[in-house]
Amino acid sequence: MTPFGKDDWRLHDQERYLHGATLHPAPRRLAVPDACYDGHCEFCWEPIAGGDRLDAASEAYATHRGDRWVCSRCFEDFKSLFAWVVANAV
Ligand SMILES: [Zn+2]
Repeated sequence: MTPFGKDDWRLHDQERYLHGATLHPAPRRLAVPDACYDGHCEFCWEPIAGGDRLDAASEAYATHRGDRWVCSRCFEDFKSLFAWVVANAV
């Protein structure tokens, strides 16, 4: 059994919409200029975008539309399982 298998507590059907997704490295707070969307990691629910949570992960990944977020820790844990493609940083 892998440490981050399908029984990980953070997994609950994200595969339906995140498997094989292209993710963009997105320094938090910069990726959401207006910070009107209170983004959180799709896996561990750590706040990523918006608010004043400067203690949260300094790096995160966002989908192309910016409506889904993955923190750097969960990204490392699940990138193999989800076969994510990382887009080049712009
Ligand atoms: Zn996370």
